[in-house]
Parts: sequence; C-alpha cells; structure tokens
Amino acid sequence: MLHFVDVILKDVFNKGHNFQWPRPSRCPRCRHYKVWGHGFVDRLFDHFTSPLQVKRFRCNDCGCVICCRPASHFARVQSSSKSIKAGLSDRITHGRWPPGIATSRQRHWLANLKRKVFARFGVVDFRDLLTAYDKLLALGHIPVSCSV
Ligand SMILES: [Zn+2]
Repeated sequence: MLHFVDVILKDVFNKGHNFQWPRPSRCPRCRHYKVWGHGFVDRLFDHFTSPLQVKRFRCNDCGCVICCRPASHFARVQSSSKSIKAGLSDRITHGRWPPGIATSRQRHWLANLKRKVFARFGVVDFRDLLTAYDKLLALGHIPVSCSV
C-alpha cells in the first residue's frame, strides 16, 4: 500500500537514510495502530541521477507493507503530476511538446489519457482533454496510467 506524504524530493536526496519520513498513524488495511519501520527501497524520480531511498513501514498485525510516496507524484510514475499536466497542456493548447521530458513518454501519457477518457466519457474533443483530465482526477483515477 502507498502512503502519500508531502515531502521535498531534494531533501530526501540530500539526507538519504537520515530523512525523517512521517510514519503512518495506522495501517491503511486493518487500521492497527502499530506500524514498524521496514527499511528502504530505491525509487526513480525525474531530475535525479540516482534512485532515492524511500521509507517503508510494515503493519505489526496484518503484515501489510506500506511504502511512502511523495504526494506530488502519482503511483508508479516518475514525473510529478504537475509536470505531466503542464506537458499535456502545452501539447493540447499549443500543439508542441515542451522540452525537458522525453517526447515518447509524453506521447505515452497522452495516449493513455485519450484511452481513459474514451472509456469513461466517450468521444471527447481534443481540446477538452484537460477538462477530462481534471474530471478523472476528481474521480480518483490516475489520468495517464495504462489501466482503464
Ligand atoms: Zn495492518
């Protein structure tokens, strides 16, 4: 399970294992109050040359492993949600991909967004994709993930 926390990735990078990750108050699965540290795991994020050490916790009762995740990022996506939306916005409104993130990745996000929007709302005008992006977010979906 993921535990989304507000962190600054540069602090995580600089402090490494010494970064104080906020401990979840309860297990998200069984609501048990005892959650123990469970080491670190490497995670890749944009703009960092090496993986960052992300803290994991484990529930004492049900054994659920809880992995911290920056609130600025979707699950399983290296780029921040802000940069994803900015890239898609540039493409949809100005017709070009912004520099900084690989175009192939941005195309992948756009294709996933189109597929999700079509599955959820039917045919939507290309210019309305950003509105649909926000609607998907409000429904609790990750607008650029592969799953429909
Ligand atoms: Zn538990």
